[in-house]
Amino acid sequence: MSFSLLRWSIALIFFCLLAPPAFAAEPERRTASKPSKKPAAKKRLVRIPGGKRLRHDAAAAFGRMYTEARAEGVRLWVISGHRSWRQQRYLYRLYRKGLGPRAARPGRSNHQRGTAVDVSVGDESTPTYEWLAANACRFGFKRTVSSEPWHWEYRPRATQAPAPGVDCLGQPLEPAEPPAAVAGPDPS
Ligand SMILES: [Zn+2]
Repeated sequence: MSFSLLRWSIALIFFCLLAPPAFAAEPERRTASKPSKKPAAKKRLVRIPGGKRLRHDAAAAFGRMYTEARAEGVRLWVISGHRSWRQQRYLYRLYRKGLGPRAARPGRSNHQRGTAVDVSVGDESTPTYEWLAANACRFGFKRTVSSEPWHWEYRPRATQAPAPGVDCLGQPLEPAEPPAAVAGPDPS
């Protein structure tokens, strides 16, 4: 009897010693997580001049625009391109606390889609802004927020190419004919 009890005690001790690792070895129950979608080709992010990233089609269009601006002496300095959910949430929280500029609620920003770009333009009278206003539409970029001259979005379908001979603002591309030389007599 006592021998049997002893055997059971030993068995129980062994069980207690061995059980925790045995349970721990059971496959962990994974907590539900977002289904990991394969990044669709459309969502692929590509680096643009300056190091920020945009969705690949927006990045290609921006690259062409950057090169042309550069050739005309304008540098498009990008402050913000694609943002992760976390980055957008951070900016939104700063905004809500009154510590940062207006930022969209996470999930609502085209920066998260990689199709919005913030360019350092100063105000609306700088050569950089004026160049964008006159040329960005040809590359599918559009200013979408009236209070943010720096924020441009790649919306090729919603962006109209200018009519032949004029820029995005409707201004003639070629400078107007120089005024005819004044033929009158020199004042003397
Ligand atoms: Zn922006």
